[in-house]
Amino acid sequence: MIGGLIDDMLRAAEDARDTVSEALFEPTLRLGVTGLSRAGKTVFITSLVANMLERGRLTRLSAQRDGRIESVALRPQPDRDVPRFDFEGHMAALSGPQPRWPSSTRSISQLRLSIRYRPGGWLSGLSGPSTLHLDIVDYPGEWLLDLGLMAMGYDAWSAQALAAVETPLRARHAEAWAAQVAARDLAAPFDEGAAQALATAYAGYLHACRRDGLSGLTPGRFLMPGALEGSPALTFCPLPPAPSARRASLRAEFARRYDAYVAQVVKPFFRDHFARIDRQVVLVDLLGALDAGPGAVADLRAAMAQVLACFRPGANDWLSALLGRRLDRVLFAATKADHVHHDQHPRMTAILKALMRESVERSQFRGARVEALALASLRATVEQEIARDGRLLPCVRGRLLDTGREAALFPGDLPTDPQRVLAEAVEGAARDAHWLRGDLSVMAFAPPPSSGRPGDGPPNIRLDQALEFLIGDKLA
Ligand code: GDP
Repeated sequence: MIGGLIDDMLRAAEDARDTVSEALFEPTLRLGVTGLSRAGKTVFITSLVANMLERGRLTRLSAQRDGRIESVALRPQPDRDVPRFDFEGHMAALSGPQPRWPSSTRSISQLRLSIRYRPGGWLSGLSGPSTLHLDIVDYPGEWLLDLGLMAMGYDAWSAQALAAVETPLRARHAEAWAAQVAARDLAAPFDEGAAQALATAYAGYLHACRRDGLSGLTPGRFLMPGALEGSPALTFCPLPPAPSARRASLRAEFARRYDAYVAQVVKPFFRDHFARIDRQVVLVDLLGALDAGPGAVADLRAAMAQVLACFRPGANDWLSALLGRRLDRVLFAATKADHVHHDQHPRMTAILKALMRESVERSQFRGARVEALALASLRATVEQEIARDGRLLPCVRGRLLDTGREAALFPGDLPTDPQRVLAEAVEGAARDAHWLRGDLSVMAFAPPPSSGRPGDGPPNIRLDQALEFLIGDKLA
């Protein structure tokens, strides 16, 4: 299986080389945008594109600040078989008379933004304008976690998944599924009804973990099936060893389905999309995880390391020959920073950076620049100081999503010591041992009404800084 995979990927790499001559004339940068469900991918891309089209707010993007960007336009994307990111539909939702959040990422999609700019520095007088094609690829982070499955057979995956169930946070969600597994004779002949019941119970367990803010959950397509919704390709689950299992047994059939899932779902995604990415943004809902508790942060921590490991497998890993050769920058961005007052942003960034540094170490990720920042793709709040008990409380004001009412909230203080957050996450403190109990309240806000100032894109926090890191040097 692995030999075939390498062949396929070498072929894909050759195909990519064929387009090099085209790239010499008009450089293309493929920017991957990922993150787990609800991390903020759709809003990020929509706001990024809208702000590139109307660049008044991008003062920290150097090419814009220096007045060198001549025009930005949406162009037809080169990959005709990938759905187009529905920028217009999402913008319509956000900018209508009653702004709504757009529908979230369910599958892969793509969009091309062509940027015409004048090079800076000594070249500026010598050459005319250049064009950079920015291909933005949106895909669920759940799929990325699956890439680890390519290096793992069914037995190893089952052992890992069953070990994860032992942790207290997951154990209670796994009860129904574990009871079913215990009640089945795994060596008995395969039966589709039993298979479906087990797979449904396992998917239920994954969804329950997800609702609790847990992240390291495979197979990712069980949570985010994309085009495979309802497909038999997803009818399997991990099982303990059954020494007497025959070829026709339930367990043997699950092992074959697992192999098919890896070969026909995970591998093509990896080969056709992931391996071609030049730069990557990983969006994380850090505030959501902090709000959910140490268990959720522990899981986010594991997921971040796992994501980085996908980009740069260890030096002796068979994937390393092909993976991550192109990728030279990764940005971890904590989204929804407008949920807290800006005086909390340094703490938010410090916690994210601590998680990131640790992920880099744990995954032995090398050779690409990694950065972390806190941003809001679409700023839904304004700041306000409110006097209470003789003290000025730094609040955020916005329209609450559930009631539609305007409210000013004091969201609370984030922990000051990132190392403490990491330590408690590492200890895997149970959800009840809460470091933030009563300290942080993350409310959902409705999107803001359109600003209406000509030349300005949607309001945001640090989107320009993110862009400077991701594409600034390409517009130099
Ligand atoms: P996806 O699943 O990663 O595509 O997530 P979305 O982009 O659809 O975002 C999920 C939800 O998070 C949205 O519906 C919003 O409620 C919220 N959200 C995302 N970005 C922001 C932001 O910048 N500010 C605020 N206040 N909420 C956001």
